[in-house]
Amino acid sequence: MRMEICKNQLKCDFYGCKNLAKYSFSTKGFVRRELVFCEDCMKKMYECFSKTLVPKAVDSPFKNKRKKERV
Ligand SMILES: [Zn+2]
Repeated sequence: MRMEICKNQLKCDFYGCKNLAKYSFSTKGFVRRELVFCEDCMKKMYECFSKTLVPKAVDSPFKNKRKKERV
């Protein structure tokens, strides 16, 4: 799946959302056409994904680096 800036004047695909889409997802046949979302919905989705998928992504890389420097 690839995300691009939506060049066409399409409405956001989120149910009940009437904003113009800003981003489009190329789904390569997974869904028949591209999925398009506005900036608000993308932010909401991103917040949702980041909470679910990477709960401590910010902390851990720095901790590892410090340990390596000391050794
Ligand atoms: Zn939207």
